[in-house]
Amino acid sequence: MMKLDYKKIIEVKNNLDYPSELFINGKYQKSISEVYFDNTSPIDGKKINKVSFAQENDVDLAVLKAREIFNKGYWSNLPPANRKKILLKFAQLIERDRLELSLLDTIDMGKTINDTFNSDLPTSIDNIEWYAEIIDKLFDDISPSSKEYMGLITKEPIGVVAAIVPWNYPLWMAIWKIAPALITGNSVILKPAEQSPMSAIKIGSLLSEAGLPDGVFSVLPGDGPITGKSLCLHNEIDCIAFTGSGEVGKLVLQYSGQSNMKRVQLECGGKSPNIIFDDCDDLDAAAEASAYAIFGNQGEVCSAGSRLIVHKEIEDEFIKKVSKISQDMQPSDPYNPKSFAGAIVNNEQLEKINKYVNIGKKEGASIETGGNITMKETGGYYFEPTIFKNVNNNMKIAQEEIFGPVLTTLNFSTFEEAISIANDSQYGLAAGVWTKDINKAIRASREIRAGTVYINNYEEGVDSTIPLGGYKQSGIGRDNGYQALENYLQVKSTWIKIT
Ligand code: NAD
Repeated sequence: MMKLDYKKIIEVKNNLDYPSELFINGKYQKSISEVYFDNTSPIDGKKINKVSFAQENDVDLAVLKAREIFNKGYWSNLPPANRKKILLKFAQLIERDRLELSLLDTIDMGKTINDTFNSDLPTSIDNIEWYAEIIDKLFDDISPSSKEYMGLITKEPIGVVAAIVPWNYPLWMAIWKIAPALITGNSVILKPAEQSPMSAIKIGSLLSEAGLPDGVFSVLPGDGPITGKSLCLHNEIDCIAFTGSGEVGKLVLQYSGQSNMKRVQLECGGKSPNIIFDDCDDLDAAAEASAYAIFGNQGEVCSAGSRLIVHKEIEDEFIKKVSKISQDMQPSDPYNPKSFAGAIVNNEQLEKINKYVNIGKKEGASIETGGNITMKETGGYYFEPTIFKNVNNNMKIAQEEIFGPVLTTLNFSTFEEAISIANDSQYGLAAGVWTKDINKAIRASREIRAGTVYINNYEEGVDSTIPLGGYKQSGIGRDNGYQALENYLQVKSTWIKIT
């Protein structure tokens, strides 16, 4: 396995081609109207390249090609075992180009090369392989109907899927949609976030090289209001698979209603509680995991453990432990494989984080550590790991998703109080529970309204077999697991009369 070496990283980075065009019908091309947007790196605030910006006519073209190929059946009717071979080849090609793809994501959104290379890329490859491997092992059903009929219950691809994804794990979040959508026989149009288009553009050619027929997969870099909205309103798109903010998720639902009632799958934001009971028997492990849960990936994580809810008896001791660990989680050079954290995606997001820190202070919370923009001399956008104490759950910093390295800490006395604080949120993506009492752990898991509950761990691993998704305003549907296939399939009932 390739080991990361700083010199090698810089050498590859200095010789990188920066992907910049739309990918439609198996070819890279400029947008029809030759519109562009500037792509900037948050590592140093400098322009990386000029990227073709997909407009409504580009969306029409990609959808036309996607629909044509879907109807011809070159991919949708291919035996699953053949589709599997192409996706397994795609996974191999990603492994071949792993360092290049890792660097594209690091340059685009500022996260560390250690994160992209050792986490995002291997988990993306695993996800593709897992979906490739299961598709020829799934069977359809025959109903237990009367002897006069045979009822076949089969699943068919939904048609043309548009995947609209965010910037926090550019390639990985795209793969979570693309792998299950392609393996089930759909045509897929990927719209990456405008902040991080390059790895998405690059995989267009990798899928072609793997043998995917032209037109099945397109990539349309562009923004939300033009490119994303055109996709959502398009009458020839059958499903939008969306990951992003709740605000935009609600718009996607509206666009579906205004157009063709296309299916909508949403993975949205969170404000996830992480509860530390006073009988937790390894406070050091809990503190380490709690720090990682909010400061990993610069806190730009949908399921970040951003509300730490600690029993009053151990509150001071525990917060001190987390604060001490956070000192080793300061941002530094994202290209250095030893760095823990990198840059915040752009100046707008940096300002948003800073604004919330100021709101928190005004609301009466106190800063235990951090609270400042840092590394200004780089020209990039960096923020210190920050911990707020004396937070009450009605404050904005406890209710709204900050999407940065800012931890709010709250306290409780009883089990009921802890659960009530945990559930007092519009979100329900994830939660953590730390206790040595198995009964308390299971009761908490049952009572917390969230799609995922971590017991005595917090997001220590990601596993393609385990679905991820939200209760409440954290989303609709699931990524990962068998459950994600349901987003991209529809059920056909066939009645056969037996005479
Ligand atoms: P965002 O909602 O601003 O953008 C997400 C995508 O939607 C981008 O591609 C953007 O261009 C597009 N978009 C924006 N406006 C649009 C419109 N009007 N019509 C159609 N598309 C539009 O989110 P973001 O800032 O890129 O990402 C951060 C958010 O993503 C956070 O809320 C985070 O919690 C969430 N997220 C959720 C998960 C999950 O699995 N639940 C995973 C990662 C990120």
